[in-house]
Amino acid sequence: MSNPEFVDAVVVGGGMVGASIALALGQAGYSVMLVEEQPIPSLPAATDPFDVRVSALSNASIDFLAQLGVWPILRESRHAPYRRMRVWDQAGAGDVSFHARDTGFPYLGVILENQVIQAGLWQAVAQCPAIRPAQAVQPQHWQAGKAFGTLTLSDGRRVQTSLLIGADGAHSWVRQHIGLEIRRHDYDTAAQVLSVHTAYPQQDITWQRFTPQGPQAFLPLAGARGSLVWYDQPDRVAARQALSDDALLRVVHQAFPPELGEITAIERRASFPIRRLHAARYQAARTVLIGDAAHTIHPLAGQGVNLGFADARALFDCLKDQADLGLAALLMRYERNRRADNLTVQYGMDAFHYGFRETNPLAVRLRNAGLMITEHCPPLRRRLAQFASGER
Ligand SMILES: Cc1cc2nc3c(=O)[nH]c(=O)nc-3n(C[C@H](O)[C@H](O)[C@H](O)COP(=O)(O)OP(=O)(O)OC[C@H]3O[C@@H](n4cnc5c(N)ncnc54)[C@H](O)[C@@H]3O)c2cc1C
Repeated sequence: MSNPEFVDAVVVGGGMVGASIALALGQAGYSVMLVEEQPIPSLPAATDPFDVRVSALSNASIDFLAQLGVWPILRESRHAPYRRMRVWDQAGAGDVSFHARDTGFPYLGVILENQVIQAGLWQAVAQCPAIRPAQAVQPQHWQAGKAFGTLTLSDGRRVQTSLLIGADGAHSWVRQHIGLEIRRHDYDTAAQVLSVHTAYPQQDITWQRFTPQGPQAFLPLAGARGSLVWYDQPDRVAARQALSDDALLRVVHQAFPPELGEITAIERRASFPIRRLHAARYQAARTVLIGDAAHTIHPLAGQGVNLGFADARALFDCLKDQADLGLAALLMRYERNRRADNLTVQYGMDAFHYGFRETNPLAVRLRNAGLMITEHCPPLRRRLAQFASGER
């Protein structure tokens, strides 16, 4: 067997979050191996179909991507900035609108397809000589030692490293391999996501109407397109997924509010089970978790990858200028910095999910009063808009 290679860090998972921490470390001069099992998407041409998975990036995430030199690539690709955000309750008069002017930023956020974000990050990875991509491979074994750890890959390679970073998503191999426990909660809800063509030209508003079955949301995409997210019981989502496009379009027009306008075609559709999970710890010997590998949240406020980018940024802040990236004290500091924020957002999403399903008249009155107070209290509205923009 050949001698093992040595790198300062191995990142398992080249999704949006894994590619971002690999870039941050690589650009700071650390040698990094980036392991990804799936093919990497390339930036789509204007006429290519849209990825059904999209993300609303906060201003904090855009700032991080700009520091990595990725934002200029994404800005040239298809994207939809949104300046306005509206949230209302089907069961009452509560209705709140947020505007970018409340935040000091030109927009509240930008919607991009996940494939565009990942492709942009990998374009920057290709230009960073300190990163060695390992594509179409998986990790097979990880042994953490005192001075370094050894990772065996599915192509037989052995790599020695100071730190293994698990950025391999909700079903994280890294997390399971080192036996970190998770707390998990199933919402008994699925998200049906539709990429659609709209009769309206490109919009600058994202909106969400809460119903007792779950929210119905519109996210603008580049051009006369949008992404609809319809949260509902899993069996109802499965039944709608089985409908033809024409039948599904009719159901969407009946169920969604008139703000949607006319949907002229469904381009793609998918459904996702909604669950929250949180690793009991983010770190173990020479190993650390970031992004969905450490925590997933209800996506109703579009914060998942934003939390992942905040993890990557915080981890980099703890590691930069260090000779040994795997020191336990550094990894513990990262966990301390991130756990409370992730937990707050997780439980904030629970408050929305369960609070808006409640049909008890008192609860309905209370939450609508809360929405109306927010609408008529500019400092509160401003603070919430800043929070959604990633300012903590
Ligand atoms: C319906 C829905 C809507 C959402 N909308 C938003 C939104 O608007 N805004 C937002 O911020 N978030 C949103 N999210 C959440 C967001 O998609 C996730 O938080 C984000 O994708 C997590 O990124 P990640 O890189 O941590 O993990 P992932 O995206 O899961 O990436 C993990 C990567 O690791 C690779 N991998 C996995 N296992 C291995 C292995 N063993 N070996 C090698 N590679 C491996 C995978 O191929 C993948 O590339 C939404 C989620 C859902 C379900």
